[in-house]
Amino acid sequence: MKFATKVLHAGIVPDPRTGAIMTPIFQTSTYVQEAPGKHKGFEYARTQNPTRTVLEENLAALENAKFGRCFSSGMGATDAIIKLLAPGDEVICTHDLYGGTYRLFTTIYKNYGIIFKFVDLQDLEAVKQAFNKNTKMIWIESPTNPMMRIVDISAMVSIAKSYNSWVCVDNTFSTPYLQNPIDLGANIVIHSVTKYISGHSDLVMGAVITNEKALDDKIGYIQNSAGAIPGPNDCFLVLRGIKTLHIRMDRHCENGKKIALFLKDHPSVDQVFWPGFVEHPNHQVAKKQMRQFGGMISFTLKNDHIDFAFKLMRKLKLFNLAESLGGVESLIGHPASMTHASIPKEERLKSGLTDSLIRLSVGIEDVEDLIKDLKQAIES
Ligand SMILES: *Cc1c(COP(=O)(O)O)cnc(C)c1O
Repeated sequence: MKFATKVLHAGIVPDPRTGAIMTPIFQTSTYVQEAPGKHKGFEYARTQNPTRTVLEENLAALENAKFGRCFSSGMGATDAIIKLLAPGDEVICTHDLYGGTYRLFTTIYKNYGIIFKFVDLQDLEAVKQAFNKNTKMIWIESPTNPMMRIVDISAMVSIAKSYNSWVCVDNTFSTPYLQNPIDLGANIVIHSVTKYISGHSDLVMGAVITNEKALDDKIGYIQNSAGAIPGPNDCFLVLRGIKTLHIRMDRHCENGKKIALFLKDHPSVDQVFWPGFVEHPNHQVAKKQMRQFGGMISFTLKNDHIDFAFKLMRKLKLFNLAESLGGVESLIGHPASMTHASIPKEERLKSGLTDSLIRLSVGIEDVEDLIKDLKQAIES
């Protein structure tokens, strides 16, 4: 099956009892057993829920993988993956990691004896040097947030394999429509389903996807033991949103490209970070591993003062000022004070995240209206 067919059909069958074409919301905590231990594969709703199972199968299929597990949030999914590790284990991660992931790693899991090394994953030599016999995992985001750097996933896989380490890719920004890390050799893909996959800014959810039965068994054990599961209503909403993922992504990418070009040509704009530009330092890698370049764009202004960036954000009418991304409506954010506020300033500056950096999540509105809105805000 091709992608556009999978979003509608993978793992999804009409309800056998009624023929309902939409997957029912199984709002139940438990399932009646015929005799002790004799059941239909469902015992208790932390362990299994049929609405969740359908979504898990669908998500796995979209990443060309066999196994998927849904969690109560992207962070819940991340937390489950780190629980695969033990004290003394080391994780190499990208140095411009999502703020919430950075916080979980550096303030919670460091107390459990797990060592996190933050490395510029574009620098293959630095990556090789960071590996040692204790390295159990490399944690990749690509494109990175908010600097839109591209990490060569295949190159990371070949280094990690020689140390027998897992490669985990946070594929939230790309979605399975633009990039499939498991096809490139990654062991685990994690998503904040909250973002593009659900796509309508109406819920919080995460997912862990793998092609390896042993890994999926461990993740399932953690999911059931720790219990960070999503409710069936949210699973239904994601199943509904996912049906248009490919159409939404095409429009996000198309609008993103036009807005990136508009910003690049505007005399008041300084730098524009978007992997679709031929001049982007990793454009060739992006072209190799992504199908399109996404609708996430960051930029700085020639007038680098923070007040100027704040004023611009206030002047916008269609771009709403909010955290999060990937919804149908366009959003604007200020990473230094919002999504990345939990990263110390000196760490932020090391990865190029200045106080005046503005991030756009380009929605699926009419692009001419979006450009008009940006133009009046920049020029006011
Ligand atoms: C939002 C986000 C997360 C965290 O997901 P939640 O669903 O908010 O818990 C993780 N990684 C990336 C790249 C994100 O954008």
